[in-house]
Amino acid sequence: MTDLTTAASNSRTEGQPLAGRRALVTGGASGIGAAVVRALAARGAHVVVADIDTAGATALAEEVGGSIWTVNLMDTDALTDDALATAMSGVDILVNNAGIQRINPIQDFKPADFHNILTLMLEAPFLLIRAALPQMYAAKFGRIINVSSVHGIRASPFKSAYVSAKHGLEGLSKVTALEGGAHGVTSNCVAPGYVRTPLVEKQITDQALVHGIPEAEVLSKIMLTESAIKRLVEPEEVGSLVAWLASDDAAMVTGSSYTMDGGWSAR
Ligand code: NAD
Repeated sequence: MTDLTTAASNSRTEGQPLAGRRALVTGGASGIGAAVVRALAARGAHVVVADIDTAGATALAEEVGGSIWTVNLMDTDALTDDALATAMSGVDILVNNAGIQRINPIQDFKPADFHNILTLMLEAPFLLIRAALPQMYAAKFGRIINVSSVHGIRASPFKSAYVSAKHGLEGLSKVTALEGGAHGVTSNCVAPGYVRTPLVEKQITDQALVHGIPEAEVLSKIMLTESAIKRLVEPEEVGSLVAWLASDDAAMVTGSSYTMDGGWSAR
């Protein structure tokens, strides 16, 4: 009889460190999430691409041999206990990544936008973690990886909802680490600076408007001023960090937040 545990761990030591693992990546159809999906799949995991963008998720799932969960993570009415239990079934690695950005001074910030961002980027991660933990505890293994931001550690003007959500996510991640440690579950954040993704491309336009400068000057005058390494982070660099946090090598890493910001937060 084949011992599945031994088979999985043997193949994990042979260059497929995530073989036998099932991962779910929210916002996995684009940008950082897509790079995370590819990094986890390349290391042997089966990956569920969870996204509101069905076409994008389907194309990527076909590319990596994964599967999809079409979901609007802002619609908490649809995130019932049953729906979440089904989506989380067998998931060993949960990556909370889906996010959006709105840039406006507080006095002009629409309360509905604030609410929606907090729902997508803080309440939904809480609901997914809550649904994933019982089976992770039963399996005595789990990896929760939350895609925070340098804005989970430091603030910037005009991003009240985003900064609030990411600071909250850093706290939620630490509480998850403290509760999960005795059950083999780790929980960590990755906190990138500006990453070359569609979200940042849109932000260049928005930042130019709110700061009253040409788009061509946004990188040098706003986004990269604090960075010691004057370039955007590449999504694949974040993917590699997430894949390491998901691996057995990171078993003692929990409650941490890993910046990848070219030195921004060191100032
Ligand atoms: P992106 O816009 O490229 O991708 C976001 C993904 O989330 C998309 O696939 C989108 O369809 C999905 N999504 C959006 N709303 C959703 C919803 N309601 N339900 C389900 N899926 C939804 O963005 P990105 O730059 O890759 O950002 C991913 C994460 O990384 C976000 O949490 C963001 O805050 C964080 N982050 C980004 C940067 C950056 O500079 N790009 C820096 C630090 C942190």
